[in-house]
Amino acid sequence: MGYYSPSIEKLIEAFEKLPSIGNKTAARLAFHILNASEAETNEFIEAITNAKKNLKYCSNCYNITDTDPCPICGNASRDQSIICVVEDVKDVVAMERTHEFKGVYHVLHGVVSPMNGVGPDDIKIKELLARLMDGHVKEIVLATNPRVEGEATAMYISKLVKPLGIKATRIAHGIPVGGDLEFTDEVTLSKALEGRREL
Ligand SMILES: [Zn+2]
Repeated sequence: MGYYSPSIEKLIEAFEKLPSIGNKTAARLAFHILNASEAETNEFIEAITNAKKNLKYCSNCYNITDTDPCPICGNASRDQSIICVVEDVKDVVAMERTHEFKGVYHVLHGVVSPMNGVGPDDIKIKELLARLMDGHVKEIVLATNPRVEGEATAMYISKLVKPLGIKATRIAHGIPVGGDLEFTDEVTLSKALEGRREL
């Protein structure tokens, strides 16, 4: 601290707040920006501002999107009768990379975790149930991460949907317990989807 002028320090601090950016990388990024042309810098600033301004949540599946409904919900060739339930928007990207899943998604934005004070009402479970009321959904694929909270959340949701006559399936293991969908390779994830079992 104190080696750089205050404006540079401030820029470095801003970069350090980003995930997985340490002090050295933050300094490297800050100096990269300082050496960049004005046009390049403005493009970067504009990309951030536009992303923040234009991105919203899809009012149907809660995926992050530029348009509402999102391109997946709005795509007539996707099977609306099967919903893959995931924890996070990054998991939608992971599932899409497999090119195996032809249904639609529902992003919970978290998992039920009493330890962290997250109850069922704090994530998008009510919103999921609302989507099931018109009777066109036949299957829910529970693709929460294979951790304690992910498993518990999958069980909780399966108990809610079964009385509605909807099949609840869980993606197969192959995804390591404690693992992350986001970091699972496409082949493992496709296999997990293929081998899903009814809950
Ligand atoms: Zn959507």
